[in-house]
Amino acid sequence: MYQSFIGLEIHIHLLTRTKVFCGCRSAFGDEPNTNVCPVCMGYPGVLPSLNIEAMKMGCLVARALNCVIPGTTWFERKQYFYPDMPKNYQISQFASPLGQEGFMDLEGRIGGADIKKHVRIKECHLEEDAGKMIHTGAVSLLDYNRAGVSLLEIVTQPDMETGEEAELFIQQLRRVVRYLGVCDGNMEEGSLRADANVSINLPGRGLGKKVEIKNLNSSRFVRLALNHEIQRQGELLDAGKTVVQETRLWNENRDQTETMRQKENAQDYRYFPEPDIPVFRPDDDFLRSVDKALVELPLPRSRRLEKDLDLSREQAELICEEKEGADYFEETLRLTGQQGLDPKAVAGKIANRILRDIKHILNNQGLSLANIGSLTFSPARLASLAGLEETGDISAKIAKQTLEASITENQDPADIVRKRGWQILSDPVKIAEAVQAVQTVEARALAEAREAAAGGNTRRRGTLAAFLVGKVLEQTGGRADPRIAGAQIAALIDS
Ligand code: ZN
Ligand code: MN
Repeated sequence: MYQSFIGLEIHIHLLTRTKVFCGCRSAFGDEPNTNVCPVCMGYPGVLPSLNIEAMKMGCLVARALNCVIPGTTWFERKQYFYPDMPKNYQISQFASPLGQEGFMDLEGRIGGADIKKHVRIKECHLEEDAGKMIHTGAVSLLDYNRAGVSLLEIVTQPDMETGEEAELFIQQLRRVVRYLGVCDGNMEEGSLRADANVSINLPGRGLGKKVEIKNLNSSRFVRLALNHEIQRQGELLDAGKTVVQETRLWNENRDQTETMRQKENAQDYRYFPEPDIPVFRPDDDFLRSVDKALVELPLPRSRRLEKDLDLSREQAELICEEKEGADYFEETLRLTGQQGLDPKAVAGKIANRILRDIKHILNNQGLSLANIGSLTFSPARLASLAGLEETGDISAKIAKQTLEASITENQDPADIVRKRGWQILSDPVKIAEAVQAVQTVEARALAEAREAAAGGNTRRRGTLAAFLVGKVLEQTGGRADPRIAGAQIAALIDS
């Protein structure tokens, strides 16, 4: 049995309005080569200047990943030739990256078991993205809109052991950067890209020969590629062969990794300090503005909600999947508290309204919980609905109906209930009328229930009683107070 060592290098596009060293617009999907200027096109003699927002977002991620932000941080030129990079070097960070020696504690479920893992972060560094090459038959096209876009690279130590752990790491990191509002985390559009490195060895022998897997554009491919690679390397070692140190690619059609390039020696990028960008010394004002932008992260937030509000772990995690959903949930609870309701008593119900009913409506519009803020149905309205339900003004069944009407008609739930006359029906005379009607239509069921009661078959009696109460509710459009209807049906059966 071998020990495996997995490290990740994750590139995220920072959501800065402009590129990292020039004023060009930073956007996905624009007309090719429209967001370009002499600086990002690498014309001779131009001067880059640092986008402070990019530096701030980078430091924010560094903080969230428990990294040290050094007293001075600077940029280097990383030299290599590639057609998508017109300068023939990339401005990046090498000797003193903006974030150093942090960690992220992984938590989640793998194969039905809870796992915890401490993953060390080697560094976070700020750099510029390259352009995009589009290969069509014999022709290759170049789009430089992406050249110079702010990119943060997050490098871990080889502390993970399975494809599942690496997948979890990426999912957890994706939630963190979305919470911080610095990256949209869209892997299909390339705003979050992962390279993985993996080696295996006999236990106690340290790292083995390292293989890199490039351009993994979904967290699932990260898992599949790494597990495939661990197995492939194990088979080589079992057969007495050696693993070649190389770069491989994941072939999603053949479900295997394949050689991309072999390098005899580590590439020499001839890093040297970028002479056109001054050394950056984060001062107190800058660091304060970074800390001000820091928010409670998804994992601690979901554990807090679970503990303080008695939510199930699954409920808490789903509520905290998107920051917008968690904010909406907590604001609703705060407002129900103002109405005098006990947050603990209503939290589970409110979580379910969000995770089932509201999510369902959003999904039908092609949206997700991240878009919950775009609904006219505000936390105040959900709190109002919870209040109506909790005080017994409406039944649970009517509550769902009210929510839907409130969204489609853009009106407060209380107004909907009043206008439609959906208040709970607790007048015993009115309910007796409905019971009377049910008694006629469901004479057979009633007779059967009486028989079961007389014969001591309490289970059968119970089932039929519930059926008859359901019919009474139906008869009243869901409005009858189920307790009163239940008592009247019971009396009818046992008379
Ligand atoms: Zn530019
Ligand atoms: Mn990089």
